[in-house]
Amino acid sequence: MQNLTILGATGTIGINTLDVVARHPDRFRVVALTGNAQIERLFEQCRQFRPDYAVVLDPAGAGQLREKMAAAGLDTEVLCGIEALERVASMPEVDTVMAAIVGAAGLRPTLAAARAGKRILLANKETLVLSGNIFMQAVQQSGATLLPIDSEHNAIFQALPRHFGGDLKQVGVRRILLTASGGPFRTRTLAELEHVTPQQACAHPNWVMGRKISVDSATMMNKGLEVIEAHWLFNASADQIQVVVHPQSVIHSLVEYVDGSVLAQLGNPDMRTPIAYALGFPERIDAGVAPLDLFKTGSLSFEPPDFARFPCLDLAYQALRRSGTAPAILNAANEVAVAAFLEQRAPFTAIPAIIEHALQKVVSSTVTGLEDVLEADALAREAAQSMILEYA
Ligand code: NAD
Ligand code: MG
Repeated sequence: MQNLTILGATGTIGINTLDVVARHPDRFRVVALTGNAQIERLFEQCRQFRPDYAVVLDPAGAGQLREKMAAAGLDTEVLCGIEALERVASMPEVDTVMAAIVGAAGLRPTLAAARAGKRILLANKETLVLSGNIFMQAVQQSGATLLPIDSEHNAIFQALPRHFGGDLKQVGVRRILLTASGGPFRTRTLAELEHVTPQQACAHPNWVMGRKISVDSATMMNKGLEVIEAHWLFNASADQIQVVVHPQSVIHSLVEYVDGSVLAQLGNPDMRTPIAYALGFPERIDAGVAPLDLFKTGSLSFEPPDFARFPCLDLAYQALRRSGTAPAILNAANEVAVAAFLEQRAPFTAIPAIIEHALQKVVSSTVTGLEDVLEADALAREAAQSMILEYA
């Protein structure tokens, strides 16, 4: 029996995780579920999975949830605050933590799971972008097991030899080929991008995702964040990671070896596949995903990314090459810019401009501890906010 905490249970990844868990009641027990704004959904999940703990960030939401629990006669203990998130991510009775909070908000609880040596199913890519060296060090020191949930990184993990120990050359890998769907605006011109709406940006052609990552896919910042994520997960340099636009989202990424072999992982675009892979690892378990129908898929196509129309991808490569706190600055400015776009306080094309401004304004430094990262994050948010005011 694996005892699970699901951070961000009410989000897209959380819901998909519970869907897989529900198929295997003999394998998994839910110890804790966490959510933020969607109290009713969290309550329903508690009713179904009967966790020992439910955590909500703010006290008002926790109060509401407590009342619902009492009225329904459920004995799940309701906790609140960031410390409670850290606690359920690191408590001794938990074996596995699904880290699926969105954005920098996921950093502290995910890091707590790493320090406690848990088996971490990592969806929250922002944790690696912000604090890759600190997080990877914590994983190594505690002996935590890290399994990537992001479909591309999960694919790469599957295509690497099982004995991969952090040195790509040693296992004969030349390059990582990170596939990208290109998002909903893959074929739009720059001029057309000026006027796209949040609704259009959130309508991804292949994947159903939360709003923030949907906008990230539309700007291709998602791929930029994933380049940085791949850098930390697989110890790959920026030059060893090639983005390949593949609009069908059937190949989830590839690994190119020195002998000319290229190994790919294919599947329908359904996050339950990487989630089930990580939940069951090293075994394979049913994910409820329809088999891939290659005859229906027909042809697969590939194209190079267009950095002129999608400058966010280029900014991410720049931040990775600059290293230190630059990725944290990039991430924070992106979060602020995406929120402004979703609230219609800034146009879509302002997103890269705001990030570029923050990267210029905030001086990046080396990372010696979490304080450096948090300071860069705060300064970048300020710089981004001040530029957004210009669009009002
Ligand atoms: P989502 O917006 O659907 O869900 C986010 C979850 O985080 C919710 O449970 C929400 O309650 C919680 N949350 C939000 N703000 C919080 C805060 N301040 N404190 C505590 N909890 C908070 O997002 P998602 O699409 O499920 O994505 C989650 C993470 O997984 C992101 O980092 C995303 O990049 C990554 N990811 C998602 C997908 C996907 O297909 N959805 C694929 C790959 C990676
Ligand atoms: Mg992905």
